[in-house]
Amino acid sequence: MINVAIVGGGPAGSYCAYHLAKNDVHPVIFDPTHPREKPCGGLVSPSAQKMLPFLKEIPIERSERKTLCIISPYGKRIRISSRYSRFLCFSRLELDKFLLDTAVKEGAELVEEKVTALTRKGGMWKIKTAKRSYLAKRLVGADGVNSIVRKSIVGALDSKDKGLCYGYLVEGLEDEEIILKFLFHRVGYLWVIPRKSHTSLGIGCANLSRSYGLKKELDIFIKRHYPHVKKNAEWAALIPHIKDIKTLHIPVAGTDWILIGDAAGHVSPVVGEGIIYALLDGELAAEAIVENNPKLFNRLWKETYGWILFRDVKLMKWISKKPFLELFFQYLKFRSLV
Ligand SMILES: Cc1cc2nc3c(=O)[nH]c(=O)nc-3n(C[C@H](O)[C@H](O)[C@H](O)COP(=O)(O)OP(=O)(O)OC[C@H]3O[C@@H](n4cnc5c(N)ncnc54)[C@H](O)[C@@H]3O)c2cc1C
Repeated sequence: MINVAIVGGGPAGSYCAYHLAKNDVHPVIFDPTHPREKPCGGLVSPSAQKMLPFLKEIPIERSERKTLCIISPYGKRIRISSRYSRFLCFSRLELDKFLLDTAVKEGAELVEEKVTALTRKGGMWKIKTAKRSYLAKRLVGADGVNSIVRKSIVGALDSKDKGLCYGYLVEGLEDEEIILKFLFHRVGYLWVIPRKSHTSLGIGCANLSRSYGLKKELDIFIKRHYPHVKKNAEWAALIPHIKDIKTLHIPVAGTDWILIGDAAGHVSPVVGEGIIYALLDGELAAEAIVENNPKLFNRLWKETYGWILFRDVKLMKWISKKPFLELFFQYLKFRSLV
């Protein structure tokens, strides 16, 4: 019998497992995919580092930049920086491996199997994989945007609450600055996030229904600005993009289950930042489980950082209007610091 089963060994699942193991609650992580490079910018902002300072100290390779360049739909270019720290760009292969290894070292168990079905049986969770079935007392859904745990308990994220990203890992841009270029014809942005040995170059659109031609738009941008780069990998990925505050009010924890990270929809819709909320969720979910009160998580995440996501969902309604976005850029230029 498993005490706590965690489906998904990304940042949310691994960090939750680490904190549980530290508190002598033996967790089992289910994930067959590691080590793997998740399609992701891997950007960790100074404000994220402020919330979890260990991110600055992680002993893995990353690129660091003093400034981040954002370009408005009309071409206004602003460089923002922070007095607190630099912008960090991680490879998700390295970051996720580090977090998972750390959890396992602390005492978490990794089962390299994909969860294919979940049912309740006599007050327990029956977890089915391709190889066998397991019984668990408590269940943590850390299995990303298409979470099977979420689907089985509160229902999948609606397609209107998902965005689509498309991109490449390229070589030849490792000295470039970090660039976020907001799009003119749709709500979203293009990004260039240089890492130590390669660069994440991608494009994201907030609405699945308006994502037609996304790859073409990115390819035109690359041809125009970076014709010399070597494309090593190509990917498409979904990202939670909550449009309605009501979705954030759906409970993400019950008496014996918790949803965390992307599975909970905890990604800023303004900038697509999700690594920090996945980690914070992992820590807070562990706290609720150690307190023997998983439901407590509903309150903990809102108290800790919920205001940021609620603010960003509201802000998004304005940012999706181009003139307001330009005004927002004026404001950032005026402050020129974040
Ligand atoms: C294109 C893109 C760019 C992004 N850029 C950034 C960025 O620059 N900065 C930032 O902060 N955030 C970024 N994000 C968001 C960030 O990637 C996520 O918010 C973060 O990874 C969430 O972590 P997680 O652990 O909740 O989920 P994930 O990292 O998605 O991990 C989920 C894990 O669950 C596993 N899993 C799924 N289903 C099952 C199953 N049935 N059984 C077992 N295992 C399963 C998967 O294999 C995976 O390892 C980006 C997202 C995308 C898509």
